[in-house]
Amino acid sequence: KEKKKLGLTTKIFIALILGCLCGIIMHYFVPEGYVRDTIIVNGVFYVVGNGFLRLMKMLVVPLVFCSLICGSMAMGDTKSLGKVGIKTLLFYLLTTALAISVALGVANIINPGIGLDTSAIQAQETSVAESTGVADTLLNIIPENPVASLANGTMLQIIFFALFVGILLAKLGDRANLVSNFVSQCNDIMMEMTSAVMYVAPIGVFCLIAKTFSGIGFSAFVPLLKYMIGVLLALAIQCLVVYQGLLKITTGLNPLVFLKKFFPVMAFAFSTATSNATIPLSTETLDVKLGVSRKISSFTIPLGATINMDGTAIMQGVAVVFAAQAFGIDLSGADYLTVILTATLASVGTAGVPGVGLVTLSMVFASVGLPVEAIGLIMGIDRILDMTRTAVNITGDAVCTTIIAHQSGLVDRERFYATVQSDDDA
Ligand code: ASP
Repeated sequence: KEKKKLGLTTKIFIALILGCLCGIIMHYFVPEGYVRDTIIVNGVFYVVGNGFLRLMKMLVVPLVFCSLICGSMAMGDTKSLGKVGIKTLLFYLLTTALAISVALGVANIINPGIGLDTSAIQAQETSVAESTGVADTLLNIIPENPVASLANGTMLQIIFFALFVGILLAKLGDRANLVSNFVSQCNDIMMEMTSAVMYVAPIGVFCLIAKTFSGIGFSAFVPLLKYMIGVLLALAIQCLVVYQGLLKITTGLNPLVFLKKFFPVMAFAFSTATSNATIPLSTETLDVKLGVSRKISSFTIPLGATINMDGTAIMQGVAVVFAAQAFGIDLSGADYLTVILTATLASVGTAGVPGVGLVTLSMVFASVGLPVEAIGLIMGIDRILDMTRTAVNITGDAVCTTIIAHQSGLVDRERFYATVQSDDDA
C-alpha cells in the first residue's frame, strides 16, 4: 500500500509543536550539564537551527533585488507603479494605526499594570533608541552607493535602486535585452533556491523553537501574565478579525483558505522572530499557493517587512498602558493620540530583526512622558511576544499584498482555492 506523505504545512505545524514540547522538557526535566547544554541545545539545535536561518537570510538580498527589478520591469510604466506604491503606503499606515487602537482598547479592558507586584520582576537594563530626524530618514532611502546597500542589506535603499533599474529596463526594451534576460534568469535561480531551502524548513523550525524554549524560564511570566495576555489577545484580534475581515470585505476571498496556506510562513516568522528572513518564503507562498502575482509582492513584501510592523505596534500600545498603570501615571485623550502617532512612526522605524520593537518603544514612552525604565520590566519575557508579533507583522504585509494585487487584477483565484500539490503529496 502506498503511504500517504505529509504536506509541508502539516510538517511545519508538527515541527512547531514538537519543538515547543522538546524545549520545555529540556528546560524542566533534563538536568543541566554538558550533554544538555553543550551538545544538544548549543550544539545540535543551535547549529541546525541557525544554519537554516542563515540559508533563508542568504536568499533575501539577491531575491529582493532580482524579483523587484523583474516586477517593476513587468509593470512597465511609472504611473501604475506609483499608484501601487501610494496605495501600499496608505494601507500599511492604516493597518498599523488600527493595530494600536486595538491594542489600546484591549489593554484598557485587561488593565495589565494594575495590581502589579514590581518586586517580583527583575528589571533589566534598557537601551534608548536614537531617533533620526524625518528629513534624514527620507534621505536615507536614496543610496549613496548601491553596492554598499546590497552588501549591507539596507532594504529601503535596495528597493529604491531596484525599482529605478526595473523602470529603465522597461523603457529601454530591446536595447537592454541582455541585462533583462540576465536578471530574470537570476530571479529564476533564486526562486528555485527558495524552494530547495524550504525542504529542510521543518527541521530548521524544530531546532530554532526547541532552542528558544529550552532557554525560557516560565516562572518569569507569572507576574506579567496580564500584560502577556493583553498583547497576545490584541495580536489575535488583529490577525484573525481585522486582517481577515479586511481581506473578505475587499476581495471576497476566503480568509480561512488564506490562513491555512499562509501558515508555514507564520510558523517560520514565529520560530525566527525576523521579518526580513521571511521575505523569500512569503513571496513564494503568495505566488505558488495563493496565486498572488510577484509583480506586486516583489515590491510590497520587502517594503512591508521593513516599514509595516502591526504586531510590534500592538506590543507598544499595550506596553504604554501597562507602564502608565504600573507607575500610576494618567494618560489623557491627547496622550493616546500621541501614542497612535508615535507608535505608527516607530513601526516604520523598527527593523525586521529580533527585539528591535523593544528598543523603539523608548521613543513611544518618551513621547508621553513615561519612564523608559519600565521597558526593563518587560524585557525578560519579550522573546515569546517578539516571536508572536513577528508572525503578525508578516501576515499584515501578506494580506495587504493580496488586497492590492486583487485591485490590480493580479490574483489568480483558481490557484488561491486550488489544493496545492505540494500540500498533499510533497
Ligand atoms: N522581530 C520583529 C520583526 O522582525 C521586530 C520587533 O518587533 O522587534 O518583525
